Amino acid sequence: DAEVEVASTAARERHAELAELVEEANWRYYVLDSPTVSDAQYDAWMRELKELEQKHPDLRTPDSPTQKVGAPISTEFAAVEHLQRMESLDNAFDEAELAAWQARAERLAETEPGPYLCELKIDGLAVALLYEKGRLVRAATRGDGRTGEDVTPNVRTVRGVPHRLTGDDVPDLVEVRGEVFLPVEGFRQLNEQLMDAGKSPFANPRNSAAGSLRQKDPRITAQRPLRMIVHGVGKWEGAEPPVTQSQMYDRLKSLGLPVSDRYQVVRGLDEIREFVKYYEEHRHDPEYEIDGVVVKVDRVVVQRQLGSTSKSPRWAIAFKYPPEEVTTKLRDIQVGV
Ligand code: NAD
Repeated sequence: DAEVEVASTAARERHAELAELVEEANWRYYVLDSPTVSDAQYDAWMRELKELEQKHPDLRTPDSPTQKVGAPISTEFAAVEHLQRMESLDNAFDEAELAAWQARAERLAETEPGPYLCELKIDGLAVALLYEKGRLVRAATRGDGRTGEDVTPNVRTVRGVPHRLTGDDVPDLVEVRGEVFLPVEGFRQLNEQLMDAGKSPFANPRNSAAGSLRQKDPRITAQRPLRMIVHGVGKWEGAEPPVTQSQMYDRLKSLGLPVSDRYQVVRGLDEIREFVKYYEEHRHDPEYEIDGVVVKVDRVVVQRQLGSTSKSPRWAIAFKYPPEEVTTKLRDIQVGV
C-alpha cells in the first residue's frame, strides 16, 4: 500500500501527544469518574490516533490506546480476573461507517451474517456478574478488560439484580455482562441532593452511575437508585447455551435477570437504519440515557466466525449519536456551581 509509510518525526510526536491526552482522559473518566473533556473531544483524539496508525502501522504498538480497553483499575478495590475478556465496541459515526461494518461482516462470515439484533447503547458502566450454582458470587467492573474491580457488595444493593437465579435449568456457572446506570430522573434528584449538601454534582448520568457504584462504602451505593440491564454473556457452563443473541435474552430473562425489551431482530441494513433513525428521534423515551444503538449479529455461530480484534468483537458495532445540546448545557451549569 503506497499510503503506508514509516512514521516521520512529526507523526511520531503527534502520536505520542495524542496517546498522552487519551491516557490522561481515561484515568479521569474510568478511575476518578470525573472527566474534564467531552466525549466528542475524546472520540476525535481517538479517531486521529487511528488515522495516524493506519498511515504508519509501526505506531500501532500493543500499548497504544487504540489497542486497549478502559484503564488500569484503581487500588481502592480488590482486583478480579475476568473468566473471559470483557471487550469494548467499535464505533460508527455515520451511515457509511455502518454500511462498511456490515460489508466487512459479509466478507468475513462463512454465511450471510444476518439477521441482526438492534438494541440501545445504554450510557452506564460495564459490570460482569458471576453466578455459581445460581448464586451471585462476584461482581466486577470491566477495568482493562482482563482485570476488573471487585464491587460485589455494591452490586448486591442494585435493585433488580438477583442474588439467586430462578427457573429449573440454571447453568452451573454463568458470567453475564451488562450496564449499571442511573435513570435520568434518579440522576436529576441525586444532583439536587448533592448541591443542597454543598457538594459538586455529577457531569452526566454515566459518571454518576460509575461514581455511585464505585464507593468504598456500599451503604452509599445502596442509597443511589441504580439499575442494571444485561446484554451479554461470558463463560457459560453446565446447561445448553442458546444459539442466538435474542434467544439468550429470553433465557437470561427466565433466569430472573433484567433484560431490555427495547430490542429488535432485523434482516439487513435498511431495517438497521430504520431502528437507528427511530431512536435518534425518540432518544428520550427510555428512562435512561443512551448514546447510540448497538447492532449485533444475532446467530452465535456467525459471531464465532467473525471473532474479535484486539479490543472489540467484529460481530457488533456501536452507532453513536451526535452529542446533545442538553449535555453541554449541563456541563456549562456545572462550571458555575
Ligand atoms: P463504548 O462506551 O463506546 O462502548 C463499549 C461499551 O458499551 C461496553 O463496554 C458496554 O458496557 C457498553 N454497552 C452499552 N450498551 C450496550 C449494549 N446494548 N450492548 C453491548 N454493550 C453495551 O466504549 P468504551 O471503551 O467503554 O469507552 C469509550 C467511550 O467512552 C468513548 O467513545 C467516549 O465516549 C467515552 N470516554 C470518554 C472520556 C472522556 O474523557 N470524556 C474518556 C474515556 C472514555
